[in-house]
Amino acid sequence: MRAFLNRIFAGRRGPDAVCGVLFAIGLLLSAAAWFAKSQLLGWLVYLPWALAVLRMFSTRLEQRYQENRRLLAWWQRLRSAAAGWLMRLRTGKGRPNRRWAQDGMGGQSHVYRNAAHSADAAADTAYHHFLCPCCGQKLRVPRGRGRVEVTCPKCKTVFEEMA
Ligand SMILES: [Zn+2]
Repeated sequence: MRAFLNRIFAGRRGPDAVCGVLFAIGLLLSAAAWFAKSQLLGWLVYLPWALAVLRMFSTRLEQRYQENRRLLAWWQRLRSAAAGWLMRLRTGKGRPNRRWAQDGMGGQSHVYRNAAHSADAAADTAYHHFLCPCCGQKLRVPRGRGRVEVTCPKCKTVFEEMA
């Protein structure tokens, strides 16, 4: 079976996240058609499904790859927005005291990078360093600010950090 699948998908894209979404849209449409008892909607179900199948067998891999990448990027943004929202909901008392969006290279990076070792050490104690929980990007915030909300400049994940 596996060899068979490999053969029919050779040089093709095969199923991916976009296919999953198209399939889910078809399912939603069929549910809607059932509720509305609409024949038109019933036929529309086949549109996303046909697209999903065509996609799987497409040989224009670059285009399909870009579509998939865009979908995943969009999903990532949605998830981090939801995570940020949930975190604010959980922490209760409204928003954290300050918002920082700064990465290891951002902000005063020219000072940071060109400084001598001693200055580097000083900068190390002046900043709290940590990694983005989502993408592992190195981040820092000035120390002594308590709980701050951080937006990762790379993946836009919003989270809180004690600094
Ligand atoms: Zn990140």
